[in-house]
Amino acid sequence: MNIFVINSGSSSIKYQLFRWPAEQPVCSGLVERVGSEQATISHKVFAEGVPTEQRLTLPLPDHEAGLHKVVHLLTDGVIQDPSDIDVVGHRVVHGGESFSQATPITPEVKAEIQRLFGLAPLHNPANYLGIEVAERVFPRARQVAVFDTAFHQTLPEKAFRYALPTALYTEQRIRRYGFHGTSHQYVAAQAAAYLGQPDARLITIHLGNGCSMAAVRGGQSLDTSMGFSPLAGLVMGTRSGDVDPSILLHLTGPLGYSPEQVNTLLNKESGMLGLAGSNDMRDISQALAAGDAAAQLAYDIYAYRIRQYIGAYAAVLNGLDAIIFTAGVGENDALVRQLVCQDIDFFGLVLAEAQNQQRQPGLRDLSAPGSRAKILVVPTNEELEIAQQCAALFASAS
Ligand code: AMP
Repeated sequence: MNIFVINSGSSSIKYQLFRWPAEQPVCSGLVERVGSEQATISHKVFAEGVPTEQRLTLPLPDHEAGLHKVVHLLTDGVIQDPSDIDVVGHRVVHGGESFSQATPITPEVKAEIQRLFGLAPLHNPANYLGIEVAERVFPRARQVAVFDTAFHQTLPEKAFRYALPTALYTEQRIRRYGFHGTSHQYVAAQAAAYLGQPDARLITIHLGNGCSMAAVRGGQSLDTSMGFSPLAGLVMGTRSGDVDPSILLHLTGPLGYSPEQVNTLLNKESGMLGLAGSNDMRDISQALAAGDAAAQLAYDIYAYRIRQYIGAYAAVLNGLDAIIFTAGVGENDALVRQLVCQDIDFFGLVLAEAQNQQRQPGLRDLSAPGSRAKILVVPTNEELEIAQQCAALFASAS
């Protein structure tokens, strides 16, 4: 079964092709600056895990032109024809309360994704466009939507409701949804398998450009740090995470900010960028090494917020079997892991300092001997999880 996974952004298309059940993709790529004269495509074809990369710069007026070009690249030795693609798995950011698992796309599903534009104005329209284009480019394939919110649909009401008037939930759907679900689900499953404990009490810590945590037990999400939108919770690259809501009133009132300006401030100018002048941890760690006090403080705030959530989620889970670091920062930044795991042995977490500094591919166990709970690094793989969910859908349907 050829499963093509698409993550369609407003001006980009990320893709991977799996020849299921092989978990290694046969090719992957990224189309950027769609809609411009200078769009780029980086296309990798893997032979026994070794990539050969092609880079192109070309005019691409829209997503349809981009995907046609990708098909052109695929037919150069990977597939014969677009009809060779059996399933297209789409990452869709917001599934609201309607979708709690991977879902075959029908006209009703598309209408519901459109209805959710208001809840995810930056993401769902681009994801929707990807679906429409893929339906035309791969007319024979079954199209499936895999939602970032779906994994968190198991949150109990006490965790997903805000203490706002009830009508705002019942009429306006204002509640905690949570995001990065595909990643939390994937790393939690990998960790539970590693521990040999299907019922493990896990705290998954996804630290990429966006950052979020989840409390997971028995493969079910019980709480998560992102909320109504992906702005809540941890300190991120450019997003503030949790702030006192009355700061927004102060900004729009006495300080005269427009709602647009507040939006830009919180989503694009805050987080590590606001604190330390860069949203990339590699720059900030360099500045830290050079003695920059703002970089030190930014790291401290970033790690402190994660520690607060570890405390909260250990309480939610009434215990802890493992914490799991994942995504760009979680997998690569030893200092973040060290700051998070300092003086936290109260929870049974003791970091193996030397192993923490080493770089290795794959799942890593960084717990010191005697650590009651495990400290793991599990590389995330959202595309593989999407492919897996698509494959499971049709295996169970046939
Ligand atoms: P992601 O969203 O998972 O792709 O993560 C992207 C972020 O990971 C980047 O903005 C960097 O801050 C961070 N990152 C990537 N590589 C490294 C590294 N080697 N060390 C520290 N941070 C890294």
